[in-house]
Amino acid sequence: MQVYQHRDQAQNLIDCPVGKVICVGRNYLDHVKELNNPVPKEPILFMKPKEALVSLHQPLSLPEGLGPCHNEVEIAILMQSSLTKANPEQVYEAIGGVGIGLDLTLREVQSRLKQQGLPWERAKSFDGSCPVSHFVSKTEFANLNDIAFSLKVNGEVRQQGNTQQMMTNMLTLLANISQSFTLSVGDIVMTGTPKGVGPLHSGDTVSIQVENAIAIETIIL
Ligand code: ZN
Repeated sequence: MQVYQHRDQAQNLIDCPVGKVICVGRNYLDHVKELNNPVPKEPILFMKPKEALVSLHQPLSLPEGLGPCHNEVEIAILMQSSLTKANPEQVYEAIGGVGIGLDLTLREVQSRLKQQGLPWERAKSFDGSCPVSHFVSKTEFANLNDIAFSLKVNGEVRQQGNTQQMMTNMLTLLANISQSFTLSVGDIVMTGTPKGVGPLHSGDTVSIQVENAIAIETIIL
């Protein structure tokens, strides 16, 4: 597998290291409801190691023999400077780019871990569990809290969201994360998924769109 590196709109390498991925669970109310989860009082955070990252511009391979692997399409934020215990006003400057990614999830494995009160990493943080797009400039978007995005599987819309539906808005969310973990240059934040998660299968064509800024089509091997 090709080693993952951050890329820009022209597919040129972005000059920053590849860091950790911080993911936000249950940030869209319609998705919280579809999985019958309680509404969280504060953002639910988990991490993926850098080995989880792969390019969304290549065909994707899913783990075998571990039950259904679900799509969760999420706006991905690339950090260009670090944030520690930041306030929301300090966040915008630190954002290096906006992309889109999949928080691939082994749903049966996750359900079993949740029932047992165990961490989710085996379900969500495996190698290749975080395909991401290239990153476009944040200035492509007039308002980071109003970014529409969607995911189609075999031509049918499966997920459709807008960052205005996030329970914790973009800048507040990154500030909140930075209270617990330093966000470093080259880290990615996956900001949560709207409803419409479901199993992906070998041979599926997956199309992902962010406004008029990003459009990607890939296949599941
Ligand atoms: Zn997710």
